[in-house]
Amino acid sequence: MEEERQRPLNGGSSILVLHDALIVTMDSQCRVFRNGAVAIQGDTIIAVGQSQDIISHFSSLSPQLFNLHGNFLLPGLINTHVHTSQQLARGIADDVDLLTWLHGRIWPYESNMTEEDSYLSTLLCGIELIHSGVTCFAEAGGQHVSGMARAVELLGIRACLTQSVMDSGEGLPESWAERTAHECIQSQKDLHKKHHNTADGRIRIWFGLRQIMNSTDRLLVETRDAAKELNTGIHMHVAEIPYENELVVERQGVDHGTVTYLDKIELLQSNLLAAHSVWVNEDEIGLLSRSGVKVSHCPAAAMHMLGFAPIREMIDAGVCVSLGTDGAPSNNRMSIVDEMYLASLINKGREVFSKGTTDPTALPAETILEMATINGAKSVLWDKEIGSLDVGKKADMIVVNPCSWTMMPIHDCISSLVYCMRSENITSLMCNGRWVMVDKKILILNEEEVIAKAQKVSGDLLKRAGIQIPTRMNFL
Ligand SMILES: [Zn+2]
Repeated sequence: MEEERQRPLNGGSSILVLHDALIVTMDSQCRVFRNGAVAIQGDTIIAVGQSQDIISHFSSLSPQLFNLHGNFLLPGLINTHVHTSQQLARGIADDVDLLTWLHGRIWPYESNMTEEDSYLSTLLCGIELIHSGVTCFAEAGGQHVSGMARAVELLGIRACLTQSVMDSGEGLPESWAERTAHECIQSQKDLHKKHHNTADGRIRIWFGLRQIMNSTDRLLVETRDAAKELNTGIHMHVAEIPYENELVVERQGVDHGTVTYLDKIELLQSNLLAAHSVWVNEDEIGLLSRSGVKVSHCPAAAMHMLGFAPIREMIDAGVCVSLGTDGAPSNNRMSIVDEMYLASLINKGREVFSKGTTDPTALPAETILEMATINGAKSVLWDKEIGSLDVGKKADMIVVNPCSWTMMPIHDCISSLVYCMRSENITSLMCNGRWVMVDKKILILNEEEVIAKAQKVSGDLLKRAGIQIPTRMNFL
């Protein structure tokens, strides 16, 4: 792969052929080529097939040929719930109760961020996302979308960016408490106008709803209508904790919780990406399925703070479920590769917890791969262009080198990708036809510089926010 480093861009009309790889296409026929090739022109995949056929088909056009012998080639992975603004907050809220987590740590942190902090935080998070094979992510909602957009433009990957939106609720920082529903909607419309479809089409702007406990009815309904008007998505934390459902039952008079109420006000629609969705009952799973709502399952964050989501039941009911990491203070690891492993294990373990009997067949490896690729693309309403290696789709893909102690020996390459692969096995990443990472090196920024800056800037931010992390154990 040395040649790409000198020539990272695949611009113009020249054709690039990546060949001799094991290609897991994730297409509708689940095709896997043992010795496959992908041809790329500009930002688009123009052929996928057996190496020999592709090379001879394009030979008269003198394509650039890159031999990936011994490597796997997959579609770029998609992280459907991540708080890029929270990367500088990694480690500020470990092992604390929920109220301390939110009121004592996260809200003071976020409300004291500057746009520059958000830019740096997104760069730092982006580095981790890229190393874990992510070519597209859905931002869960941060304070400075313009800072995030600037970072995503530089990072070279795709994103559905969302502002953190709240217009009510107890304990909000002063600067947030006075926002009206109208202001929340207007500022998002302005951001949409400014950033939607920028960075060669890699950035999309969505509407955000932090959660139902911080939203007036007016905000919920106007968000529904504004997203419809601009033909974009809505990203919202849904049914995270039992208290949320109890509050909705009490205030809105519905018989269960958030999902039931969102159905009542017609917010359950196919453009809603519902993060977590842990505390949903059977009827609500039916509602999610019938309305085409997408669910982002974040297994690590669920174990950290929320509980077991009924993912197997959702999948059985036909709900489109994808994977997310959530933010650094509720997961710490922003690796979608780790989430793939966890999602499979946690949902096998949950079978014992919910049914009293073991079932190691729950959520098999191929289901997990779908969640991280094509279901991710559907969740971010981008599946016509990304999520699988198909002719006509954008050239978003990753190269996996399995030849290390983490993955060898390989007898079942599909299960190896879920149960053995680590972020370290992902060596190169292409997004929109451009190499973003080659041989584990991100080409467009200096990682060490970003990391060093992050340590200093996050310390300053915590001081400004008045957050003190208690010392553990006996420091001398
Ligand atoms: Zn979240």
